Amino acid sequence: MEDTFRHKGLRKKLVETVKKKGIRDKKILEAINKVPRHLFMDTGFINFAYKDQAFPIGEGQTISQPYTVACQTQLLDIQRHEKVLEIGTGSGYQAAILMELGARVYTIERHRNLFLKVQTLLPGLGYRPNFFYGDGFKGLPSFAPFDKILITAAATYVPEELLKQLKVGGRMVVPVGGMGYQEMTLIIRKGENDYERSNHGGFVFVPMVSGTSNGK
Ligand code: SAH
Repeated sequence: MEDTFRHKGLRKKLVETVKKKGIRDKKILEAINKVPRHLFMDTGFINFAYKDQAFPIGEGQTISQPYTVACQTQLLDIQRHEKVLEIGTGSGYQAAILMELGARVYTIERHRNLFLKVQTLLPGLGYRPNFFYGDGFKGLPSFAPFDKILITAAATYVPEELLKQLKVGGRMVVPVGGMGYQEMTLIIRKGENDYERSNHGGFVFVPMVSGTSNGK
């Protein structure tokens, strides 16, 4: 599948939509303009790829809405070369956006099929994050600490293990809440035992689930 002028044109419109909704960060808008979102979705959904909406990617999961991706990315305040942990690789779209901003991405997925699929897709588009199959609740202790941690599924609470894996001065962004509504939460680690928490509006994500799809 290719990236045509039509796709590029639709992408420009999507950038305008996201901008109108309040995203001002130029680098994030440029990243959305660059990443071919239609290639992250099943062929049947191509016509919807550049609508500002979430869509199914199989296994009951979704590719996040571009505005949501932009909001989470903006809150993370990504700088080049930062080490970023993403929980919930899913389609790989959010990881691609992070890499467009120069981040070094470590990404974990609990669904075996999604994990396998994205490992062909992303490198094929020139994106090479470090892929992990596992339970994001545990994070990646052997690769910690991280400058930034991003959870792209709804957590009913902030996972303690992930707070420990955040650098002092680092930021974590996580939608916290139950089914149907979560509050976008930014946590800044101010000191060894000092975490500052703030809320940034309501969103809807698929739930964060512990364990992996094959039960390990
Ligand atoms: N960042 C993705 C969003 C996918 S939706 C994208 O840009 O497309 C959320 C993803 O989180 C799903 O793929 C789901 O399987 C995954 N997930 C849920 N709980 C998880 C956990 N405990 N560990 C790792 N991944 C998890």
